[in-house]
Amino acid sequence: MNGTTIRRIILSKKLAKRDGLHCHYCGISLVPSRVFQRIERGAAKDTKRYRDFSALLANGAVMATLDHKIPESRGGRLILENVVLACEPCNMEKGSRDYCEFVQTKRAAFGQTVNA
Ligand SMILES: [Zn+2]
Repeated sequence: MNGTTIRRIILSKKLAKRDGLHCHYCGISLVPSRVFQRIERGAAKDTKRYRDFSALLANGAVMATLDHKIPESRGGRLILENVVLACEPCNMEKGSRDYCEFVQTKRAAFGQTVNA
């Protein structure tokens, strides 16, 4: 595991604590990527934590990704203030679009409050 991977894991944990485990844009429930991959591989540990995440997945939760508000391509850094947890479709859809504009679009589409 390289430094960036470790940094992403640490940031993801901090974001889950700060914002909860749901997509910042559409609100869908998320499962941490490492937990998700372990469950997908059939290598989930037999603990309450994994059973809870498996149940979430069965109910439509998806894998969490780390999305840069200001994209790396525009100089956005891998720091807590510049990242949010997002589902893969929202992350892909946002791409390098403007963060504020994208949040507004999503708010309108889902009619929910998103903490920008
Ligand atoms: Zn989403």
